[in-house]
Amino acid sequence: MKVYNTLTREKEVFVPLREGEVRMYVCGPTVYDYTHLGHARTYVAFDVIRRYLEHKGYSVLMVMNFTDIDDKIIRRANETGEDPKELANRFLKFFLEDMEALKVKPADVYPRVTEHIQEIIDFVKKLEEKGYAYEGNDGVYFEVRKFEDYGKLGKINLEELKKGARVEPGEGKRNPEDFVLWKKAKPGEPKWDSPWGEGRPGWHIECSTMSTKYLGEQFDIHGGGNDLIFPHHENEIAQTEACTGKKPWVRYWLHTGFVMVRGEKMSKSLGNFVTIRELLERYSPEVLRFFVLQRHYRSPLDYTEEGIQHAKNNLERLYHAIENLRIALEKAEMPFKWGEEEFELYESIRSAGKRFHEAMDDDFNTAEAMKPIFEVANAVNAYITKVEKPKASVLRKALEFFRMIGEVFGLFEGYFKEEGESREEELIELLIQVRSELRKQRNFALADEIRAKLREMGIQLEDGPQGTIWKRINV
Ligand code: AMP
Ligand code: ZN
Repeated sequence: MKVYNTLTREKEVFVPLREGEVRMYVCGPTVYDYTHLGHARTYVAFDVIRRYLEHKGYSVLMVMNFTDIDDKIIRRANETGEDPKELANRFLKFFLEDMEALKVKPADVYPRVTEHIQEIIDFVKKLEEKGYAYEGNDGVYFEVRKFEDYGKLGKINLEELKKGARVEPGEGKRNPEDFVLWKKAKPGEPKWDSPWGEGRPGWHIECSTMSTKYLGEQFDIHGGGNDLIFPHHENEIAQTEACTGKKPWVRYWLHTGFVMVRGEKMSKSLGNFVTIRELLERYSPEVLRFFVLQRHYRSPLDYTEEGIQHAKNNLERLYHAIENLRIALEKAEMPFKWGEEEFELYESIRSAGKRFHEAMDDDFNTAEAMKPIFEVANAVNAYITKVEKPKASVLRKALEFFRMIGEVFGLFEGYFKEEGESREEELIELLIQVRSELRKQRNFALADEIRAKLREMGIQLEDGPQGTIWKRINV
């Protein structure tokens, strides 16, 4: 498997540091507004990367931070008159709801800055002890010139950078290129005690601190949108490698392309965004995932209504193929003999599976990986139209193919994963109703039998004042 590494600007063979395990950190949102399609693109892309790694048999430890204190949050809170903490909590909750709606698998840890202040202070102290950080009148700064590898991710020339930057009046940094690690509190701002007086962390330090806390001093994948390459990730590298002395800190840097609106990046600050909530009123989560996955994660993605509509139509073609398969299975025959059509369909599924994996192994190329999926859909439809008595075995192979695609892309949920479970739940509810009816008719023997039989199957019924509830037990 190969992945494109922003650090080397090359596709490299993917070898995680520990066999069978991938440790992965994705920069999370600054929570002061609703999640928009740009965020969704980035997080769905990393969700599919994670799902594919799991599909390949890796155990993935995934961490995503929340920037829940920052200039933008404070500014927005001042505008709305809300407490910054309340504001951040509100949008953090909305973000998690949006991700759940989009079927993005949850991270294993969601570290919040405000819960890691001590760790951040300790990190800054270490940088100070090692001579990389100094205290100015308004904060603690990282001295960029001390870190000789500076610029390696963003391909930044330090001399050029110095020319472009300047020290603002009142700023306590020694050199224009230095960046802040700890900001001393201004009146009315949220603040925490520290060896440098009351204040709060700078932006970049949180990701160095929290990623190494949960994933160790070296780990496999660090990701985010393209706009984070410089300065955010560049500064993260400088801080972390300066602190630990270990290189490289991160093996593979992955960055997603922007969602664009008429040639401009979709962003909160430009105000040209469409929120996930608005989109979910018009489209299903799977349509939005499908829209995003039709492009490779590094390519820009133009947001247009026609584009999403197109994705919807394409996804529906796949739904139809799955529906056709399920209807055909009902009248399918035992495979006592395979004819030419069965061999053909089988071959089409086999070769599509191979090409799907090749495309995904090539830097998670979901755009290429889509093609064989449509080929199988077409082959299935052709087989079902042509063959009067389809064979169950090849139909099942096709269903298995779609199930596998569904697991990796987070699609077709209504057809596979949940369906079995929700059908079972409906049946249990029905039995509970029947039993309650029987009890009203004083047919306790039969009511008890239902309860006992369910128990044998690992379903425990409990009668209470609100009616009967059920739970699964180990039998
Ligand atoms: P923010 O909340 O702005 O810090 O963004 C959170 C994540 O979403 C970062 O990884 C950004 O790079 C990413 N992001 C923001 N806007 C876009 C966009 N228009 N397209 C793709 N990713 C984006
Ligand atoms: Zn970050």
